[in-house]
Amino acid sequence: MLYIWGSGSDTAKAGSAGTRLCSICGSVQPFDLLVNYRYFHFWHLISWVTKRSYSATCTRCGNGAEVPAIEAKQQIDKDPIPLLRRKGWLIPIVALAILLPLGAYSSQQHQQEIAAFLDAPVAGDLYSVDLAQVEDSGFERSPSWGVLKLVAVDNGVGVFVTSKYAYDRKSDLKRDLRKGKFKDVANLDSDDEIEIPLKQLSTLREAGTLVDVTRE
Ligand SMILES: [Zn+2]
Repeated sequence: MLYIWGSGSDTAKAGSAGTRLCSICGSVQPFDLLVNYRYFHFWHLISWVTKRSYSATCTRCGNGAEVPAIEAKQQIDKDPIPLLRRKGWLIPIVALAILLPLGAYSSQQHQQEIAAFLDAPVAGDLYSVDLAQVEDSGFERSPSWGVLKLVAVDNGVGVFVTSKYAYDRKSDLKRDLRKGKFKDVANLDSDDEIEIPLKQLSTLREAGTLVDVTRE
């Protein structure tokens, strides 16, 4: 059965508790100082200790007696419970601390790339736009996330064709762009050309109408 969280208990040896008379064995035996603990976990990885107790346990028969925590702690200098059991809860925090700045950095890089592409357009560039906000695109219901493909530049004016389809969600457009769907002219409306002054592209971007540029 698959379960993603739960609790468990385990024992870790913290050191020697010396030798003493074991009432079960009826003789003097070496005893271990044990930490008995319970822990809670998610996916066996994100984990923390919920309860601990200490015992002195006969190494021969397992007969044990509880040791008061204060007394036991004085004898333990290094916590014998595995680090992941105690500090596993740190894993998602550390992962986020590493990934969030990376994500912010790569998104900033991408925005700079878009700005560079818009400064120097090249025929073939694919612009991700809300086609409903583009005049004469033939799309009216906003949002209509689709593609404007730059086919030519003439005196500072871009000549574009649109995709035949548009999507309600940007993520769906992004997915099909990644698949290379709009490299196929069959998915472009090549009969209707739209002219947009290139200067207007940054205005469209500032308005949130133009959200991405793809260049092969
Ligand atoms: Zn014993």
